[in-house]
Amino acid sequence: MISSQIQTASYLFAGILFILSLGALSSQESAKRGVLYGIIGMGIAVLSTVLGEGVQGQIYIVIAIAIASIIGLLLARKVEMTSMPQLVAILHSFVGLAAVLVGFGSYLDPETQAMVGTAHTIHLVEVFIGIFIGGITFTGSIIAWGKLEGKIRSKPLIYTGRHIVNIILVLICVVSGFMFATGQGPDGMIHLYVMTGISFFIGIMMVMAIGGADMPVVVSMLNSYSGWAAAAAGFMLGNDLLIITGALVGSSGAILSIIMCEAMNRSFLSVIFGGFGSAPTGEAMAVEGEVTAINHEEVAELLNNAKSVIIIPGYGMAVAKAQFPVHEMVNRLKKQGKIVRFGIHPVAGRLPGHMNVLLAEANVPYDIVLEMDEINDDLPTTDIVLVIGANDIVNPGAQTDPNSPIYGMPVIEAWNATDVIVMKRSMATGYAGVQNPLFFKDNTSMLYGDAKASVDSINSYLD
Ligand code: NDP
Repeated sequence: MISSQIQTASYLFAGILFILSLGALSSQESAKRGVLYGIIGMGIAVLSTVLGEGVQGQIYIVIAIAIASIIGLLLARKVEMTSMPQLVAILHSFVGLAAVLVGFGSYLDPETQAMVGTAHTIHLVEVFIGIFIGGITFTGSIIAWGKLEGKIRSKPLIYTGRHIVNIILVLICVVSGFMFATGQGPDGMIHLYVMTGISFFIGIMMVMAIGGADMPVVVSMLNSYSGWAAAAAGFMLGNDLLIITGALVGSSGAILSIIMCEAMNRSFLSVIFGGFGSAPTGEAMAVEGEVTAINHEEVAELLNNAKSVIIIPGYGMAVAKAQFPVHEMVNRLKKQGKIVRFGIHPVAGRLPGHMNVLLAEANVPYDIVLEMDEINDDLPTTDIVLVIGANDIVNPGAQTDPNSPIYGMPVIEAWNATDVIVMKRSMATGYAGVQNPLFFKDNTSMLYGDAKASVDSINSYLD
């Protein structure tokens, strides 16, 4: 057992470590340190909570933590890098569910039921809001998991009048919340059941209405919601550290969502309200032109003769784990005296910074890895662009087809280079499910096959 003073000091220390962790995570060089700060902070937080005054049945808590830790460890070791967003989404759903359960538990707790006056009213408001945010986070995250896992189609599910329905449901919750907090109407549990059902429904419909290309924003937004749900649980439990941690996750998730919305040229509000006004209504433009295939030897010859090369990696590079042979290719081209750089789109892959992590894993130097805005102007003077397992992020339709679901999203303008080689297995669409006119352009050639096998084969023909 530790005294409440020591617990407060430990919470403060853990809070500082969480802030340092977030700071360090902002750059690749210091990210490992950031993770370490986070682990130590969380260790201190859990220990000082379990050992705190008034906590009973520690043995059960330790058993629960041990079981959960083993499951978490096994899952994290098994999960592929490409399935990380799904794992993150499902973990967010746990936070949401936890907030709902804490809410019900806290309402039924005889100690809080015995509270009177303003303190009791404030507690009831905390319970109501906590369950509401938790419920939305819970079902919204499950739908996000389904969409990312491909179990639910990524096309937005939109029905006429959905915003009106949502507004009415929220208004019902506001009225019910007022009655709940002021002790009017039916039994408090009825209010909670109705509101929980509504929050589950809103969570489902909100994420169902969001299209594939906006999923990155949804994942970071649910991350933010899970933070606010945790903060709400912190208020209900009177746990300062949970409030601090929840607020850190909530606000950093919100900032990330705004950054991602800016990168995708989307309105933050339109995305969080379930694609408000953003759904295209007309037919997508017909794609014109012919597809030209190329073989590995021909690509190697083009590379041997080029002066400048830009590589644009996407989700397919992650699936194929092609980052290692890609780095070998870069080394060999650089030895030949060529200028080789990477162009990274902010939503390439399936999670923020996905490509940067893969390239860092393969020890690609950071100075040749450039952001979309830094590379786009250089494309017209580039000899060859290698698009490795990318699709939506190089789709010219985002600039030219107002009926495309990704219209308005900034893309890497690969087509401006002299020659474009696209490496993928087939003519299949990308995550947003739209055809890519880039594949049909005169200066584009398709190199079919698994990205890793293709790069290995090209490497074998390089000078
Ligand atoms: P895309 O999903 O648009 O395209 C990836 C392409 O990779 C596919 O067309 C596929 O074609 C190809 N591919 C798959 N496996 C392999 C393989 N083994 N070898 C070679 N190619 C392969 O990915 P992008 O990175 O271009 O764009 C990301 C998309 O994901 C955007 O729509 C973005 O909004 C969305 N998204 C991004 C998130 C993020 O945070 N970054 C999160 C959630 C969604 P084929 O089957 O023919 O091989």
